Amino acid sequence: MKYDVLIIGGGPVGNYLATLLAGKMDVAVVERKGHFGGKACTGIIGAEMYESLGLPERAILNAFNGAFFISKKTVFEISRKTPQAYLVDRKVLERELAKRAMKRGAEYYMATSFLRFKNGRAVVQHLDSKFEIEAKFYVGADGVNSTVAREIGARTEGETLKGWELEILGNFRRERVEVWVNKDLNPEFFFWVAPINEEEARVGTFGPVDSLAKFLKLRRLDGGKIVEFKTGAVILGWRRPWVKGNVALLGDAALQIKPTTAGGIVFGAYCARVLAKGILNGDISRYEKECSWVRNQISFGLRVRKLFKRMSQENIEEVFEVLASEEAKEIIERSANFDDHVQTVKAILKSPRLLAKLIRISPMILRMLV
Ligand SMILES: Cc1cc2nc3c(=O)[nH]c(=O)nc-3n(C[C@H](O)[C@H](O)[C@H](O)COP(=O)(O)OP(=O)(O)OC[C@H]3O[C@@H](n4cnc5c(N)ncnc54)[C@H](O)[C@@H]3O)c2cc1C
Repeated sequence: MKYDVLIIGGGPVGNYLATLLAGKMDVAVVERKGHFGGKACTGIIGAEMYESLGLPERAILNAFNGAFFISKKTVFEISRKTPQAYLVDRKVLERELAKRAMKRGAEYYMATSFLRFKNGRAVVQHLDSKFEIEAKFYVGADGVNSTVAREIGARTEGETLKGWELEILGNFRRERVEVWVNKDLNPEFFFWVAPINEEEARVGTFGPVDSLAKFLKLRRLDGGKIVEFKTGAVILGWRRPWVKGNVALLGDAALQIKPTTAGGIVFGAYCARVLAKGILNGDISRYEKECSWVRNQISFGLRVRKLFKRMSQENIEEVFEVLASEEAKEIIERSANFDDHVQTVKAILKSPRLLAKLIRISPMILRMLV
């Protein structure tokens, strides 16, 4: 079997790449599981990017026009007229993308695992039979624990975080996400509450599992009925190289993950577009360079993450007080972008008054963000 491109991993990012290439090239996808979906993932995706990437409307479960930001002492609300983020059904997202790619001619090998490269071919296994697939280009879109990354000798430098997420019944404001920052409960990460509708939400965090139980108590959800509980991991940092010869890494396999929120679908899909262009031109050597928007976002996000980890809850309270001011809220409502945190922070720091207040809290803020 010889293809132009073999994509290893039929998650959202691998399938998205398949949709971009199928019909123009011979494309095959190998997916370890016998089905789509099932991964722990809240499924919050910035609305603007969702639309500009052409992701399937059918996967959207809910739309958020704003958010509540909640610390121990302060609550503030950011709201806009139009949806800023969508909540998606991961299974539907992956299936719809796969169906789109299949209709354009992509071949899918389900329940088939990539094992290794041998003499420039991919050795894969379906049930107990092993066979080889040959392609001009190979793409490792096989998630954070990528076998393809291991095979090309990519090096990982990052922080592994375990994530916990559940779907729970309760009373929620459908069009608002809640972001809770409470380092006493979880020093590692924030908590999110993402309503699917008025009576069901996805609640989660990254870090120690007992922090989620403590949070449910604080949010008065500890008596709530849990419909689903999932766990998964992300790595925040760098894995390089993204390209070796005719093999490229994509999505979580390349750690194209936002360090501020651990969201990876948009960055992965953005890089898929860049990679597709290279593959169609027969040259992927500039892929990593041309993903500079994502690399800059990751690099900035890692600085924000470092800052977050160094800050005490007292510092967080002070920052919340600044962000809850009318001036900051007006700036955030006007210029915040769900997927472009560089733009959002830059807009806030452009205000001399806000900048001065933040420096007063800690000069570290200026040193690390500017
Ligand atoms: C708790 C939690 C919450 C999250 N919430 C969000 C969120 O709200 N928004 C967001 O954007 N991101 C979120 N993420 C991150 C998001 O899940 C990932 O960034 C996203 O899944 C990356 O997609 P991918 O296609 O690159 O990799 P994956 O989704 O990991 O897909 C990889 C695919 O490759 C397959 N595979 C693996 N190894 C092999 C092999 N050897 N052979 C063949 N196939 C293989 C797997 O079965 C899988 O289907 C969250 C993550 C966690 C853990």
